[in-house]
Amino acid sequence: MKAAESREIWRELSTVEDWLSGGLARSRVEPDFDALEKKAEELKAIQAALTARTAGGEQKMSGQKGPQQRRAGMADAGAAAPAVGSAADGPAAGGTGIAGIAGLRRGIPGMPAAPAGHGTASPSAAAADIRPLQAQPRARLLKAGDVLKPGENPASALTRLESEVSSCDKCGLCAARRKAVFGMGPALPLVLVVGEGPGAEEDATGRPFVGPAGRLLDKMLGAIGLERGKNAYIANVVKCRPPNNRTPLPDECAACLPYLEAQIALLGPKYILCMGRTALQVLTGSSEGIMKLRGRWFDFGGIPLIATYHPSALLRDENLKRPAWEDLKELRSRFE
Ligand code: SF4
Repeated sequence: MKAAESREIWRELSTVEDWLSGGLARSRVEPDFDALEKKAEELKAIQAALTARTAGGEQKMSGQKGPQQRRAGMADAGAAAPAVGSAADGPAAGGTGIAGIAGLRRGIPGMPAAPAGHGTASPSAAAADIRPLQAQPRARLLKAGDVLKPGENPASALTRLESEVSSCDKCGLCAARRKAVFGMGPALPLVLVVGEGPGAEEDATGRPFVGPAGRLLDKMLGAIGLERGKNAYIANVVKCRPPNNRTPLPDECAACLPYLEAQIALLGPKYILCMGRTALQVLTGSSEGIMKLRGRWFDFGGIPLIATYHPSALLRDENLKRPAWEDLKELRSRFE
């Protein structure tokens, strides 16, 4: 691996470490990748010299074989000599210096290695195509005109919907809510981020993603050039907090879904980013889990949709952070 490539990987992982650590990453000193590359080249040269010397010794040894071996050796010579210095054993395959630089990808302090089953399938490869949604997506693909009332524009329609949500009693989640959480963001977002539902802090403030998971979400979005209120709109599948932060029930999701459908139609986001299983399954109609479908592209009525792990899941399981970063990079690659 060349110094420039190693440097690029190191800087990218340093950026990720910043948001994975909640801004508490210790200060880092960038390694001297040019010096490391030079050292690797020196080690390759030393290993090549040692290999050549060893091969020479082998040839000398074969010249001292007994008569019986010499007779057989005429036929074996061609196969025996390369065995020491074959390409498979050569420095390119096992050079210490090269392995040392390549190891930087795995060895960034505080960076969890990708666990088996997470992030091993390349999202870039998986997302080369945008797959259509399942045959029966749960969400309806509305147009803005389906939602607007006479004399309304998208902004005023959103205000009307937010008011409706604040007094909605279409499902049982209204009973214990303090504040409904409609969503927040710009009128024409680049990305619509869809989570599951409000938690305790969101219920108290009426704002989406404001607890620890929200702070992590902001860092995740910031790492790919997104910012709530500027180019990212944040919403949830259900607008009222489920008791004890449980997963919303199917009938609760179904009751609330028209609000999200209307938001999508009025906002017209360029991309949709589902955070976690609930948002993914509600919008795609799939029953597959987030582990299987994360990092893949779907077509939501002409809007590319991708999903990754919910920030709350990342806070519970550090091993999910690396694949989540791969998913975010896949999203970024579309609008860079
Ligand atoms: S969760 Fe949605 S459908 Fe249920 S009461 Fe709240 S706003 Fe209405």
